[in-house]
Amino acid sequence: TPENVTPPKPNEINLDNHPCFNREACSSHGRIHLPVAPKCNIQCNYCNRDFDCVNESRPGVTSTILSPGQALVYLEKIMEKRDDIAVVGIAGPGDPFANPNETMETFRLVRERFPSMILCLSTNGLGLTEEYVKELAELQVSHVTITMNGVDPKIAGQVYAWARHDKRIFRHEKAGALMIEKQLQAVSWIKKYGMIAKVNSIIVPGVNDEHLEEIAKTVSSMGADIMNCIPLLPTKDTVFENYPEPDAKMRFAARIKCGEYMNQMTHCARCRADAIGKLSEPMADDVHELIQSCSR
Ligand code: SF4
Ligand code: SF4
Repeated sequence: TPENVTPPKPNEINLDNHPCFNREACSSHGRIHLPVAPKCNIQCNYCNRDFDCVNESRPGVTSTILSPGQALVYLEKIMEKRDDIAVVGIAGPGDPFANPNETMETFRLVRERFPSMILCLSTNGLGLTEEYVKELAELQVSHVTITMNGVDPKIAGQVYAWARHDKRIFRHEKAGALMIEKQLQAVSWIKKYGMIAKVNSIIVPGVNDEHLEEIAKTVSSMGADIMNCIPLLPTKDTVFENYPEPDAKMRFAARIKCGEYMNQMTHCARCRADAIGKLSEPMADDVHELIQSCSR
């Protein structure tokens, strides 16, 4: 671990209580996503973000957006009501590092108020810098997920419609190459600063289903800890709208092949950006009302 970074002390933050990383914690512990990151710096061909949705359950969907201060108030109200929340995560509905000020401020506020909370983050990796990773480590953010859909620019380039970086727009293979470079860099920083690195890969039939193994091989050699192969959820008004959803055989094959290189997560619930509670728990109506009242 580099100097000036204090790794989380096990007696203060119990890392085993993260239900996504430890299946045994699923029945006892839950997580809350704080929707503080509305913007995105790329367009994935499977994503259609929706900010006031209450009926759907998928990533990118949230019933509202909160400022960092509103998110803390909301979290305090939730923590008064329940004692099973072990993890606070930021996962959109856009990308946390397309909204770095909001993301970092939220983590600072939550860490100050809840010193034993597990902090978790999920990003496409493009906007991460070593500065941010260093501060995340100082705030004892312990679990970082990078979503990577290929390690070959030709394949990754089919998943991204565009990526915006340094005021330039990258498309096709160039977007693929840029994303791969930034994502691998992000994985190496996360490990350098002593955090747990998860790699999410969306299984897109005919695009990267035969390539996931290469992703696993590459990121495991860099020290990534766990991989989560998530089946594509064909979503209306996206490029992949009419693609088939990966069947059980394809999902199983992906996990077996990737499993030769690294641990596989098999119980992902493909959560909303404002998910709360146990992984299997649907969003309750009173939580919708509460989160919306906090955003006013
Ligand atoms: Fe959507 Fe996330 Fe992709 Fe951005 S990075 S386009 S929010 S799936
Ligand atoms: Fe955990 Fe998957 Fe939900 Fe993220 S999307 S909180 S990894 S179950």
